Amino acid sequence: MIVVLKPGVAREKKEGLIQWLERQGLQVHVSDGQFQTVLGLIGDAAHVDMDLVGSLEIVDKVSRVTEPFKCCNRKFHPEDLVVSAGGVPVGGGHFAMIAGPCSVETEEQIVGVAKAVKAAGADLLRGGAFKPRTSPYDFSGLKAEGLELLRVARAETGLPFVTELMDIRDLELFADVDVIQVGARNMQNFDLLRELGHCDKPVLLKRGLANTLRELLMSAEYVMSGGNEQVILCERGIRSFADYTRNTLDLSAVPMLHELSHLPVIVDPSHATGLARLVPPMALAAVAAGADGVMVEVHNDPLNALCDGAQALRPEEYEKLAAKVREIRKVVTA
Ligand code: PEP
Ligand code: MN
Repeated sequence: MIVVLKPGVAREKKEGLIQWLERQGLQVHVSDGQFQTVLGLIGDAAHVDMDLVGSLEIVDKVSRVTEPFKCCNRKFHPEDLVVSAGGVPVGGGHFAMIAGPCSVETEEQIVGVAKAVKAAGADLLRGGAFKPRTSPYDFSGLKAEGLELLRVARAETGLPFVTELMDIRDLELFADVDVIQVGARNMQNFDLLRELGHCDKPVLLKRGLANTLRELLMSAEYVMSGGNEQVILCERGIRSFADYTRNTLDLSAVPMLHELSHLPVIVDPSHATGLARLVPPMALAAVAAGADGVMVEVHNDPLNALCDGAQALRPEEYEKLAAKVREIRKVVTA
Protein backbone atom coordinates (compact mmCIF):
# COMPACT_ATOMS: atom_id res chain seq x y z
CA MET A 1 0.00 0.00 0.00
CA ILE A 2 1.29 3.49 -0.71
CA VAL A 3 -0.02 6.77 0.61
CA VAL A 4 0.83 9.83 -1.46
CA LEU A 5 0.62 13.06 0.51
CA LYS A 6 -0.51 16.37 -0.95
CA PRO A 7 2.31 18.77 -1.83
CA GLY A 8 3.46 21.08 0.95
CA VAL A 9 2.00 19.14 3.91
CA ALA A 10 3.20 20.44 7.30
CA ARG A 11 5.83 18.27 8.95
CA GLU A 12 3.84 17.73 12.18
CA LYS A 13 0.83 16.46 10.26
CA LYS A 14 2.99 14.10 8.25
CA GLU A 15 4.71 12.83 11.41
CA GLY A 16 1.32 12.39 13.09
CA LEU A 17 0.09 10.16 10.26
CA ILE A 18 3.33 8.14 10.19
CA GLN A 19 3.10 7.49 13.94
CA TRP A 20 -0.54 6.48 13.62
CA LEU A 21 0.31 4.03 10.82
CA GLU A 22 3.17 2.60 12.88
CA ARG A 23 0.79 2.10 15.81
CA GLN A 24 -1.30 -0.03 13.45
CA GLY A 25 1.69 -2.37 13.21
CA LEU A 26 2.95 -1.16 9.82
CA GLN A 27 6.48 -0.29 8.87
CA VAL A 28 6.50 3.07 7.07
CA HIS A 29 9.03 3.80 4.38
CA VAL A 30 9.18 7.55 3.80
CA SER A 31 10.27 8.98 0.47
CA ASP A 32 10.50 12.75 0.44
CA GLY A 33 10.51 13.80 -3.19
CA GLN A 34 11.02 17.26 -4.61
CA PHE A 35 7.27 17.91 -4.70
CA GLN A 36 5.52 15.13 -2.86
CA THR A 37 6.05 12.68 -0.04
CA VAL A 38 5.25 9.03 -0.59
CA LEU A 39 4.68 6.73 2.39
CA GLY A 40 5.30 3.09 1.54
CA LEU A 41 3.55 0.75 3.95
CA ILE A 42 5.10 -2.61 4.67
CA GLY A 43 3.17 -5.24 6.58
CA ASP A 44 -0.39 -6.44 6.72
CA ALA A 45 -2.63 -3.45 6.04
CA ALA A 46 -5.78 -5.60 5.82
CA HIS A 47 -7.03 -4.47 9.24
CA VAL A 48 -6.27 -0.77 8.63
CA ASP A 49 -9.11 1.41 7.38
CA MET A 50 -7.49 2.72 4.21
CA ASP A 51 -10.66 4.58 3.22
CA LEU A 52 -10.23 6.58 6.38
CA VAL A 53 -6.57 7.29 5.50
CA GLY A 54 -7.60 8.27 1.96
CA SER A 55 -10.14 10.74 3.30
CA LEU A 56 -7.61 12.70 5.37
CA GLU A 57 -7.10 16.25 4.10
CA ILE A 58 -3.30 15.79 3.84
CA VAL A 59 -3.62 12.66 1.68
CA ASP A 60 -3.67 12.90 -2.11
CA LYS A 61 -4.25 9.21 -2.86
CA VAL A 62 -3.89 5.71 -1.52
CA SER A 63 -3.04 2.82 -3.80
CA ARG A 64 -2.27 -0.83 -3.51
CA VAL A 65 1.19 -2.18 -4.36
CA THR A 66 0.67 -5.65 -5.71
CA GLU A 67 4.34 -6.50 -6.31
CA PRO A 68 6.03 -8.53 -3.56
CA PHE A 69 9.01 -6.14 -3.50
CA LYS A 70 8.42 -2.93 -1.62
CA CYS A 71 11.64 -1.13 -0.64
CA CYS A 72 13.03 -1.32 -4.17
CA ASN A 73 9.68 -0.56 -5.81
CA ARG A 74 9.49 2.64 -7.83
CA LYS A 75 5.97 3.19 -6.50
CA PHE A 76 7.49 3.65 -3.04
CA HIS A 77 10.18 5.92 -4.34
CA PRO A 78 9.23 7.69 -7.60
CA GLU A 79 12.58 9.45 -8.00
CA ASP A 80 15.72 7.64 -9.19
CA LEU A 81 18.09 6.55 -6.46
CA VAL A 82 21.60 7.94 -6.72
CA VAL A 83 24.06 5.59 -5.03
CA SER A 84 27.34 7.04 -3.80
CA ALA A 85 29.98 4.50 -4.80
CA GLY A 86 33.00 5.67 -2.84
CA GLY A 87 32.00 9.24 -3.67
CA VAL A 88 31.11 8.47 -7.31
CA PRO A 89 27.39 9.03 -7.95
CA VAL A 90 25.64 6.20 -9.84
CA GLY A 91 22.06 6.49 -11.13
CA GLY A 92 19.63 9.35 -11.62
CA GLY A 93 21.49 10.66 -14.66
CA HIS A 94 24.96 9.82 -13.30
CA PHE A 95 26.63 7.25 -15.53
CA ALA A 96 29.39 5.04 -14.11
CA MET A 97 32.25 3.60 -16.11
CA ILE A 98 33.52 0.61 -14.14
CA ALA A 99 36.53 -1.27 -15.46
CA GLY A 100 39.34 -3.55 -14.42
CA PRO A 101 40.51 -7.13 -14.56
CA CYS A 102 38.44 -10.15 -13.67
CA SER A 103 40.89 -10.98 -10.88
CA VAL A 104 43.59 -9.10 -9.08
CA GLU A 105 46.83 -10.89 -9.93
CA THR A 106 49.85 -8.73 -9.12
CA GLU A 107 50.53 -5.17 -8.00
CA GLU A 108 51.96 -4.34 -11.40
CA GLN A 109 48.85 -5.71 -13.13
CA ILE A 110 46.19 -4.02 -11.00
CA VAL A 111 47.96 -0.67 -10.69
CA GLY A 112 48.80 -0.67 -14.41
CA VAL A 113 45.21 -1.47 -15.44
CA ALA A 114 43.82 1.05 -12.91
CA LYS A 115 45.97 3.82 -14.35
CA ALA A 116 45.04 2.89 -17.92
CA VAL A 117 41.29 2.75 -17.33
CA LYS A 118 41.39 5.96 -15.35
CA ALA A 119 43.15 7.69 -18.22
CA ALA A 120 40.39 6.34 -20.51
CA GLY A 121 37.73 7.92 -18.30
CA ALA A 122 36.71 5.15 -15.86
CA ASP A 123 35.13 6.26 -12.59
CA LEU A 124 35.51 3.03 -10.64
CA LEU A 125 37.95 0.13 -10.64
CA ARG A 126 36.81 -3.48 -10.53
CA GLY A 127 38.84 -6.56 -9.61
CA GLY A 128 38.11 -9.81 -7.85
CA ALA A 129 40.10 -10.93 -4.82
CA PHE A 130 37.68 -13.71 -3.90
CA LYS A 131 36.70 -15.48 -7.10
CA PRO A 132 33.76 -17.84 -7.55
CA ARG A 133 35.07 -20.44 -10.00
CA THR A 134 33.20 -23.31 -11.56
CA SER A 135 36.14 -25.62 -10.96
CA PRO A 136 37.74 -25.95 -7.50
CA TYR A 137 41.09 -26.43 -9.26
CA ASP A 138 41.08 -22.98 -10.89
CA PHE A 139 42.69 -19.83 -9.51
CA SER A 140 40.33 -18.55 -6.83
CA GLY A 141 41.84 -15.17 -6.14
CA LEU A 142 44.50 -13.65 -3.90
CA LYS A 143 41.96 -13.09 -1.09
CA ALA A 144 43.19 -10.61 1.57
CA GLU A 145 46.34 -9.89 -0.42
CA GLY A 146 44.18 -9.04 -3.44
CA LEU A 147 42.20 -6.54 -1.37
CA GLU A 148 45.46 -4.98 -0.26
CA LEU A 149 46.56 -4.58 -3.88
CA LEU A 150 43.22 -2.94 -4.72
CA ARG A 151 43.93 -0.44 -1.92
CA VAL A 152 47.32 0.26 -3.46
CA ALA A 153 45.68 0.83 -6.87
CA ARG A 154 43.12 3.16 -5.28
CA ALA A 155 45.85 5.13 -3.52
CA GLU A 156 47.79 5.48 -6.77
CA THR A 157 44.84 6.51 -8.94
CA GLY A 158 42.12 7.84 -6.64
CA LEU A 159 39.65 5.37 -8.17
CA PRO A 160 37.25 3.77 -5.68
CA PHE A 161 36.85 0.04 -6.24
CA VAL A 162 34.21 -2.68 -6.36
CA THR A 163 35.09 -6.22 -5.41
CA GLU A 164 33.18 -9.41 -4.68
CA LEU A 165 32.35 -10.78 -1.25
CA MET A 166 31.49 -14.48 -1.38
CA ASP A 167 31.32 -15.39 2.28
CA ILE A 168 29.97 -13.24 5.10
CA ARG A 169 32.80 -14.51 7.34
CA ASP A 170 35.16 -12.33 5.25
CA LEU A 171 33.15 -9.14 5.79
CA GLU A 172 35.68 -7.74 8.28
CA LEU A 173 38.30 -7.69 5.53
CA PHE A 174 35.97 -5.49 3.45
CA ALA A 175 35.82 -2.61 5.96
CA ASP A 176 37.34 -0.07 3.59
CA VAL A 177 36.05 -1.49 0.31
CA ASP A 178 34.01 1.11 -1.60
CA VAL A 179 31.37 -1.16 -3.16
CA ILE A 180 30.67 -4.81 -2.30
CA GLN A 181 29.73 -7.02 -5.22
CA VAL A 182 27.39 -9.95 -4.80
CA GLY A 183 28.11 -12.19 -7.77
CA ALA A 184 25.61 -13.98 -9.98
CA ARG A 185 26.10 -17.27 -8.14
CA ASN A 186 25.30 -15.67 -4.80
CA MET A 187 22.28 -13.65 -5.88
CA GLN A 188 20.06 -15.91 -3.80
CA ASN A 189 22.43 -16.45 -0.90
CA PHE A 190 19.82 -15.06 1.46
CA ASP A 191 21.97 -15.11 4.60
CA LEU A 192 24.66 -13.10 2.81
CA LEU A 193 22.06 -10.63 1.53
CA ARG A 194 20.50 -10.22 4.98
CA GLU A 195 23.89 -9.47 6.52
CA LEU A 196 24.67 -6.90 3.83
CA GLY A 197 21.40 -5.25 4.79
CA HIS A 198 23.03 -4.28 8.07
CA CYS A 199 26.18 -2.79 6.60
CA ASP A 200 26.68 0.75 5.40
CA LYS A 201 28.28 0.01 2.04
CA PRO A 202 26.77 0.09 -1.43
CA VAL A 203 26.04 -3.35 -2.81
CA LEU A 204 26.38 -4.19 -6.51
CA LEU A 205 23.95 -7.07 -6.97
CA LYS A 206 24.42 -9.17 -10.10
CA ARG A 207 21.54 -11.07 -11.65
CA GLY A 208 21.81 -14.83 -11.23
CA LEU A 209 22.45 -17.08 -14.21
CA ALA A 210 18.89 -18.34 -14.26
CA ASN A 211 16.97 -15.75 -12.32
CA THR A 212 14.02 -13.62 -13.26
CA LEU A 213 13.83 -9.87 -12.76
CA ARG A 214 11.37 -10.39 -9.93
CA GLU A 215 13.84 -12.69 -8.17
CA LEU A 216 16.58 -10.11 -8.65
CA LEU A 217 14.36 -7.45 -7.10
CA MET A 218 13.42 -9.75 -4.22
CA SER A 219 17.14 -10.20 -3.55
CA ALA A 220 17.59 -6.42 -3.53
CA GLU A 221 14.67 -6.37 -1.12
CA TYR A 222 16.58 -8.63 1.29
CA VAL A 223 19.38 -6.06 1.48
CA MET A 224 17.14 -3.00 1.59
CA SER A 225 14.65 -4.30 4.13
CA GLY A 226 17.60 -4.65 6.53
CA GLY A 227 18.21 -0.91 6.28
CA ASN A 228 20.86 -0.71 3.56
CA GLU A 229 19.19 1.07 0.66
CA GLN A 230 22.36 1.54 -1.41
CA VAL A 231 21.88 -1.17 -4.03
CA ILE A 232 22.95 -1.16 -7.68
CA LEU A 233 21.44 -3.83 -9.94
CA CYS A 234 23.56 -5.47 -12.63
CA GLU A 235 22.42 -7.39 -15.71
CA ARG A 236 25.25 -9.76 -16.69
CA GLY A 237 23.60 -12.21 -19.06
CA ILE A 238 21.47 -15.24 -18.35
CA ARG A 239 21.42 -18.87 -19.48
CA SER A 240 19.29 -19.44 -22.56
CA PHE A 241 19.94 -21.05 -25.92
CA ALA A 242 23.27 -19.34 -26.51
CA ASP A 243 25.79 -21.54 -28.23
CA TYR A 244 28.35 -19.03 -29.48
CA THR A 245 28.26 -16.64 -26.52
CA ARG A 246 28.86 -17.32 -22.82
CA ASN A 247 25.38 -16.11 -21.87
CA THR A 248 22.51 -14.14 -23.37
CA LEU A 249 22.53 -10.44 -22.54
CA ASP A 250 18.97 -9.52 -21.60
CA LEU A 251 19.00 -5.84 -22.47
CA SER A 252 15.28 -5.38 -22.04
CA ALA A 253 16.03 -5.89 -18.34
CA VAL A 254 17.39 -2.34 -18.26
CA PRO A 255 14.23 -0.38 -19.16
CA MET A 256 12.03 -2.95 -17.37
CA LEU A 257 13.99 -2.68 -14.13
CA HIS A 258 13.92 1.11 -14.44
CA GLU A 259 10.15 0.92 -14.72
CA LEU A 260 9.79 -1.38 -11.72
CA SER A 261 12.43 0.07 -9.45
CA HIS A 262 14.22 3.31 -8.63
CA LEU A 263 17.57 1.54 -8.21
CA PRO A 264 20.42 2.20 -10.66
CA VAL A 265 20.86 -0.52 -13.28
CA ILE A 266 24.23 -1.27 -14.83
CA VAL A 267 25.28 -3.83 -17.44
CA ASP A 268 28.26 -6.18 -17.57
CA PRO A 269 28.81 -7.04 -21.25
CA SER A 270 31.96 -9.05 -20.47
CA HIS A 271 30.37 -11.97 -18.60
CA ALA A 272 27.31 -11.66 -20.83
CA THR A 273 29.21 -12.45 -24.01
CA GLY A 274 32.49 -14.04 -22.91
CA LEU A 275 34.23 -12.71 -26.01
CA ALA A 276 36.26 -9.51 -26.10
CA ARG A 277 35.20 -8.62 -29.64
CA LEU A 278 31.52 -8.68 -28.63
CA VAL A 279 32.03 -6.49 -25.57
CA PRO A 280 32.15 -3.06 -27.32
CA PRO A 281 28.96 -3.50 -29.37
CA MET A 282 27.01 -4.86 -26.38
CA ALA A 283 28.37 -2.17 -24.06
CA LEU A 284 27.19 0.50 -26.50
CA ALA A 285 23.81 -1.20 -26.80
CA ALA A 286 23.53 -1.18 -23.00
CA VAL A 287 24.22 2.55 -22.93
CA ALA A 288 21.60 3.06 -25.65
CA ALA A 289 19.11 1.04 -23.58
CA GLY A 290 19.54 3.54 -20.75
CA ALA A 291 21.91 1.70 -18.41
CA ASP A 292 23.33 3.76 -15.54
CA GLY A 293 26.76 2.30 -16.09
CA VAL A 294 28.79 -0.42 -17.76
CA MET A 295 31.23 -2.72 -16.02
CA VAL A 296 33.89 -4.02 -18.39
CA GLU A 297 36.77 -6.43 -17.83
CA VAL A 298 40.11 -4.98 -18.92
CA HIS A 299 43.48 -6.73 -18.72
CA ASN A 300 46.96 -5.59 -19.70
CA ASP A 301 47.83 -9.09 -20.93
CA PRO A 302 44.64 -11.03 -21.73
CA LEU A 303 46.55 -13.99 -23.18
CA ASN A 304 48.10 -14.71 -19.81
CA ALA A 305 45.20 -13.67 -17.59
CA LEU A 306 44.50 -16.07 -14.72
CA CYS A 307 40.77 -15.74 -15.29
CA ASP A 308 38.45 -14.71 -18.15
CA GLY A 309 41.20 -13.64 -20.57
CA ALA A 310 39.00 -14.31 -23.62
CA GLN A 311 36.56 -11.58 -22.66
CA ALA A 312 39.07 -8.97 -21.47
CA LEU A 313 39.66 -5.82 -23.48
CA ARG A 314 43.15 -4.43 -23.71
CA PRO A 315 43.53 -0.92 -22.27
CA GLU A 316 43.73 0.65 -25.73
CA GLU A 317 40.52 -1.12 -26.77
CA TYR A 318 38.82 0.12 -23.62
CA GLU A 319 39.91 3.66 -24.37
CA LYS A 320 38.23 3.49 -27.79
CA LEU A 321 35.08 2.01 -26.28
CA ALA A 322 34.94 4.67 -23.54
CA ALA A 323 35.01 7.45 -26.15
CA LYS A 324 32.10 5.84 -28.01
CA VAL A 325 30.16 5.34 -24.75
CA ARG A 326 30.38 9.09 -24.16
CA GLU A 327 28.96 9.74 -27.63
CA ILE A 328 26.01 7.38 -27.11
CA ARG A 329 25.36 8.93 -23.69
CA LYS A 330 24.98 12.32 -25.39
CA VAL A 331 22.22 10.88 -27.58
CA VAL A 332 20.49 9.11 -24.70
CA THR A 333 20.45 12.16 -22.42
CA ALA A 334 19.66 14.72 -25.16
C1 PEP B 1 32.70 -11.01 -11.73
O1 PEP B 1 32.14 -9.94 -11.99
O2 PEP B 1 33.87 -11.09 -11.40
C2 PEP B 1 31.92 -12.27 -11.80
C3 PEP B 1 32.40 -13.40 -11.31
O3 PEP B 1 30.75 -12.12 -12.41
P1 PEP B 1 29.40 -12.98 -12.32
O4 PEP B 1 29.10 -13.15 -10.86
O5 PEP B 1 28.43 -12.13 -13.05
O6 PEP B 1 29.68 -14.28 -13.01
MN1 MN C 1 35.32 -12.44 -14.82
